[in-house]
Amino acid sequence: MKKIYRILLLALMIGVASGCTRQNNDVNNQKVQEQKEKSDDKSTEKSDSKKLYVSFYPIEYMAKEIAKDKIDVVNVMPKGATVHDWEPTAQDIKNLSDSKMLIVNGLGLEGWLEDVKSSLKNTEIVDSSTNIDKIKAEEEHEHDHDHEEHEHDHDHEEKEHGHDHEHHHHGEFDPHVWMSPKQARIQMKNVYEAIIKFDSENKDFYEKNYKELDKKFEELDKKYTEVLAPQKDKYFIVPHEAFGYLARDYEINQVPIEGINSDSEPDLNKMKELTNFAKSHKINTVFYEMGESDKIANSLAKEINAKTAGLSTIEAKTQDIEDGKDNYFSLLEKNLDAISQAK
Ligand SMILES: [Zn+2]
Repeated sequence: MKKIYRILLLALMIGVASGCTRQNNDVNNQKVQEQKEKSDDKSTEKSDSKKLYVSFYPIEYMAKEIAKDKIDVVNVMPKGATVHDWEPTAQDIKNLSDSKMLIVNGLGLEGWLEDVKSSLKNTEIVDSSTNIDKIKAEEEHEHDHDHEEHEHDHDHEEKEHGHDHEHHHHGEFDPHVWMSPKQARIQMKNVYEAIIKFDSENKDFYEKNYKELDKKFEELDKKYTEVLAPQKDKYFIVPHEAFGYLARDYEINQVPIEGINSDSEPDLNKMKELTNFAKSHKINTVFYEMGESDKIANSLAKEINAKTAGLSTIEAKTQDIEDGKDNYFSLLEKNLDAISQAK
């Protein structure tokens, strides 16, 4: 997909549609619609302006726990989409541009945001990573570009348009703040403050919910500290570099198979390096990403005679989340169980 063209098209669409109310797809009714819009222009509030948009599941969870049924919280990412490579459609951007507020994780997690910001002039974008003690992202491996199936497409695109496609995802800092209950508490405070700005009339209601949620995460934070304290400085092999804040906050060390953007499958050298490291540290568990292939974890585990187990990066909204079997909080609890059992 030629992203640049799509963005240009979007800019055009949004430009044309600005000042209008809902778009009507029925071409035959266009005239009628235009007249209607003229008369409705000022009185009609766009329905999307009542919606509070969020960029991915953990923020959706926080916002819904705080707002409950008082606000229509909408996650821009569809079920199953993964946060590091998802990009909005034209309709998504149209919806976002009609909304009053969008809460994002920040720290470059939403790689698509820079490109669409100019289309969201009337949408307040709230960065939920404000006040977080950030971790600087390390440079990606130099073989980062060698694995992509569509490498050549990207190369052409870059040359033709002088646009650095591959690097638009890469922030200066590690974005995986939601993976640590300690950081999640800061994030939900930011979400709460955004919500009372979005709808100040129900402040007391939101405040009560926020305090309950914060208490729950405060206890989870304590549990992480207590459970992991005796395991201080241990290493755990993770599917991608998503556990930096968790590792820092609870004093353990992640050994990532893939990089911070989950887009650098290990080559033979990297696998050899991991094998040697795991053997010398007598690591007994290799974690794979729940909901994704465990192939690499399995082959590494076989090499070092270890077992595999799942961890969730909570980056996608899964069917189990949708069905209410899992949620952000329960997945953080499961992660702690899994990590604490690994040696
Ligand atoms: Zn990630």
